[in-house]
Amino acid sequence: MAESSIEWTELTWNPVTGCKKISPGCKFCYAEVMTRRLKAMGQEKYKDGFKIIKTHPSALNIPFTWNKPKVVFVNSMSDLFHDEIPLDFIKAVFSVMNQTPQHIYQILTKRSDRLLKIADELHWTSNIWMGVSVENEKYSYRVNDLRQIPAITKFLSVEPLIGPVKNLLLNDINWVIVGGESGHGARPIKYEWIEDVRVNCERNSVPFFFKQWGKPKFNINQNDPTIAKEHPNHAKGGCELDGKVYRELPQLTT
Ligand code: SF4
Repeated sequence: MAESSIEWTELTWNPVTGCKKISPGCKFCYAEVMTRRLKAMGQEKYKDGFKIIKTHPSALNIPFTWNKPKVVFVNSMSDLFHDEIPLDFIKAVFSVMNQTPQHIYQILTKRSDRLLKIADELHWTSNIWMGVSVENEKYSYRVNDLRQIPAITKFLSVEPLIGPVKNLLLNDINWVIVGGESGHGARPIKYEWIEDVRVNCERNSVPFFFKQWGKPKFNINQNDPTIAKEHPNHAKGGCELDGKVYRELPQLTT
């Protein structure tokens, strides 16, 4: 378990490590960079590097040790629906989430095809929020896969947003996060792309969370006060849209 700097969660819990790139959104994968760093620091869990997908049964009991209710990003260092992760292990992760309803678990995948294939074999308690990543229009089919599964709270991570996503169908979607890419070589996000998603959310009464522009040079307002590190709402590149911070959240269901 680790405290997270991600604006929409509190902690990360990683019962699996390692992944393989599947679409353009993976280009500057955060998990890959972090794995390299943690391996160099000598952390046992990451010694095999990023390309080896490894389950960690010893991590399964960690949520039972948290005294207070937490909001947890599951598998920030992998993709829980990767084909190489055995169904029995995914079921074991779900069993832990089912037995700890005091915590909210947020899972994100780019493998929506496998998610859809096995979703009926998993037990979807209301504390499990299931999301898919969509980086541009080409991958919006993942939303249609997500819509068909029995999770009670379904969300989209439209991050890194690297192209327009004009026609996202948001029926049965409970939350949308948008963010720009950060770091060396980051691809720019455009105001119109963000605004398309925001207006779509507004029209469909879906909570909208704008995480970050990614880099100050992508932000159309160079005077955005949230660019400054000292600002209480600071995010990479700032996070205001037309002078407003959008950090809406879905209804809590636990
Ligand atoms: S699916 Fe996620 S964890 Fe896997 S390579 Fe892509 S961005 Fe990284």
